[in-house]
Amino acid sequence: MTKFVFVTGGVVSSLGKGIAASSIGSLLKSRGLEVTIQKFDPYLNVDPGTMSPYQHGEVFVTDDGAETDLDVGHYERFLGVSMHRENNVTAGQVYDSIIQKERRGDYLGRTVQVIPHVTDEIKSRMLGITRQGQVDVAIVEIGGTVGDIESLPFLEAIRQLRLELKRENTLFVHVTLVPHLGAARETKTKPTQHSVKELRAIGIQPDILLCRTEMTLQDDVKEKIALFCNVPKEAVIEAIDVASIYEIPLMFHRGGLDDLIVEYLRLDAGPPDLEAWQSFADRVRSAREQVTIAVVGKYTHLRDAYKSINEAIAHGAAANGVAVKVDWVDSERVEMDGPAALLAQAHGILIPGGFGDRGTEGMIQAARYARERKTPFFGICLGMQCAVIEFARDVAGLDGADSSEFRADTPHAVIDLLESQQGVSKKGGTMRLGAYDCELTLGTHAAEEYAKSHVAERHRHRYEFNNRYREDLEKHGLRVAGLYKDLNLVEIVELPEHPWFVGVQFHPELRSRPADPHPLFRGFVRAAVEERRRREGQTSGSPRPSGARIE
Ligand code: GLN
Repeated sequence: MTKFVFVTGGVVSSLGKGIAASSIGSLLKSRGLEVTIQKFDPYLNVDPGTMSPYQHGEVFVTDDGAETDLDVGHYERFLGVSMHRENNVTAGQVYDSIIQKERRGDYLGRTVQVIPHVTDEIKSRMLGITRQGQVDVAIVEIGGTVGDIESLPFLEAIRQLRLELKRENTLFVHVTLVPHLGAARETKTKPTQHSVKELRAIGIQPDILLCRTEMTLQDDVKEKIALFCNVPKEAVIEAIDVASIYEIPLMFHRGGLDDLIVEYLRLDAGPPDLEAWQSFADRVRSAREQVTIAVVGKYTHLRDAYKSINEAIAHGAAANGVAVKVDWVDSERVEMDGPAALLAQAHGILIPGGFGDRGTEGMIQAARYARERKTPFFGICLGMQCAVIEFARDVAGLDGADSSEFRADTPHAVIDLLESQQGVSKKGGTMRLGAYDCELTLGTHAAEEYAKSHVAERHRHRYEFNNRYREDLEKHGLRVAGLYKDLNLVEIVELPEHPWFVGVQFHPELRSRPADPHPLFRGFVRAAVEERRRREGQTSGSPRPSGARIE
């Protein structure tokens, strides 16, 4: 029978509940258990696909084409397995299916209510991910903060599940904040006490508290939290800020978290094997050489908007044994100040995905700068489209070339609406979404990095490379390195004469994992390291021996 770990959050949002849930998952997996994770989001959108990055951060796309919460990305990275549509449920989906049932007449004669109909629907989604008991532990993360009106039905559902599934099969983990007030030099437990009081008022007594803190929690603080929150002291676990999120499973293990969960849930688990986490942490800590990668986008002040890009760069850095400093460059500033002022220090330039025309001229200028200066360049989705537009305008002489997304009346729509998108007017879930095959062209940079002839990568877009311009652009030196054969769609372009200039129509960052870094991110960071060494060699007058460390 599948056992459940329910993760809730209190005091403030952005406590890293998703990473906490993922870390619990990775610890249990390291003890030989079959684990899955599911996130419940209390908002009424059916999925985050229609929300702006300002509202929601990144939209994480799964292989099966679901547009999901960015925490699902953490689940994949920490568990090393692919998630599916059912791993993310929103209140919008729950209500949508209830209303459809009501219209069909499934509830005929009855009043449809939050309890039991909404809670039953929520519980059935939770029980649905157990794969008939094949999963040993299902971790269920409840989005939002305890005390929000929106999350009440979800909390009520997990309260009911504890009663139905019994105590030894369910566990409540509450992630909370223990702030340190600098002026008073005191660590404060009151916010945690209040949050737990709120939970207990709705019938949930947490079993374990994960306390986010900037300072080590002293014994007396733990004792106080234990007493006031009605949990044993060993279940008050410190979650102190760490340099890399991939150290969190190790930190929780040191705090005794996995032993406690195994004991509470009476799990038949082996000893933990944390070798892979330790070696990743060691590689991050021992990196001496640092390269700078500029990410040129329009949501650069919002780190959540490019979560997976940031993580994939970190995986690529660890794979190369170097540290990467990411410079987040606002593409509208590139338009104002020019690329040289903002990008000259970068050893690699990356343009991520995005929608709408704001800031795209700055991205196009950044692509030109990378091409002309021979700085390693990685264009992802919109970034690839900008690189194609730049090439068309500046190399192939197609004046006014553009994407029809940005300028409907462009004389040369080198990027144009996908044929399958003609006539699509509904916005939700209608893009080209999920994993598609890509056939690589032998002898290209991309094929070399992947060391394969076929890959599958995830997509989220409506526009694409316009094949009417393919011959002309190829004639001028653009190389097509990857194709979706079924529809003859160009998926990868590159410049053979450039040290590393690759544009991809898909989102490789979504498939990168710490234990399995994406080949293109690994290759891009390697190219940035080579660029740094080349520049150093130029200034010092002698080429640096390979493998040398730069302090
Ligand atoms: N806006 C572009 C399109 O729809 C790029 C999308 C993206 O970068 N994810 O094709």
